[in-house]
Amino acid sequence: MNPDTGYITLIINPRAGARCEKQLACRFIEYLEKKNFNLQIHYTQHQNHAKEIAADAAVKYDCQLVVVAGGDGTIRETVSGLEGSDKPLMLLPCGTENLLANELGYKFNFKTAVKVFEAWILHPLDLCKANDRFFTSVGGIGFDGDVVKLVDARRKGNITHLHYFMPIFQSFMKYDFPKFTVEADDEVIFDDRGLAIFGSISRYAVGLPILQKADYGDGLLDICIYKCHNRPALLYHSLMTVFKRHRKSKNVIYRQCKKIKIYSDVKMETELDGDPGPAMPLEISIMPQAVKVLIPPGSKPIGMKRRIFRIFE
Ligand SMILES: [Mg+2]
Repeated sequence: MNPDTGYITLIINPRAGARCEKQLACRFIEYLEKKNFNLQIHYTQHQNHAKEIAADAAVKYDCQLVVVAGGDGTIRETVSGLEGSDKPLMLLPCGTENLLANELGYKFNFKTAVKVFEAWILHPLDLCKANDRFFTSVGGIGFDGDVVKLVDARRKGNITHLHYFMPIFQSFMKYDFPKFTVEADDEVIFDDRGLAIFGSISRYAVGLPILQKADYGDGLLDICIYKCHNRPALLYHSLMTVFKRHRKSKNVIYRQCKKIKIYSDVKMETELDGDPGPAMPLEISIMPQAVKVLIPPGSKPIGMKRRIFRIFE
């Protein structure tokens, strides 16, 4: 990229995450300035601000790149603002979970940021939508919807992985495995008790390989439905997932499709990219290759061991 042919837009969420990766944004800005790039730096001030800034950058002919420093929420807003434009997007992951950045194989350090920028490898990224809400990575109904709702209700500012511990335990103890129905491409594929995870990246929180076959740029949604009626069954499914054996189980349905409908007679919580999702019923669709994102050379998803280790760093 040539500093004379335009400028770089930086979108920074000053409230993202709880870790020191914010320094990453500062160091990267210094690096770009030393290389004589013109920068337009924006700090997000409210919800949807990142989307507004990105949508503005998307129509500016001399904006050459959009860099977003934030967590999954800020990245999601930026992607939805850039949707359909040809502006390259680069991530500086600064959140708690960083689902998308982990999937793309980003390591959260300055060296990787420079490598990603200099290598300039662009990859298409799909954008998913559930009812009227966008998401880039994964969503779920049932158990993980309950967990996210509890975490969000207690949230005061930045969160760490430890904030999930009690909500997971509480949700596990009171989850009653409601019945729901799933349609994939207009065909009913499930009508029973359990829980479902859907989206376009292969790794869930802490790197759990739930949507094992998912590809974030293939234009397809993946859905994994765990049929289970009780807590031991849920524990069994979790263990099988850790060891990547879950898709072999007769009580797991795994599909790739273009649209999904999920409905239930009872109230069930939903989540999208780790934030509370819209009320059921859900209609989920995908916008293939909505944006182009810079990926590290040799990009592959960061695995469970590395991500769990990182929690305690
Ligand atoms: Mg896909």
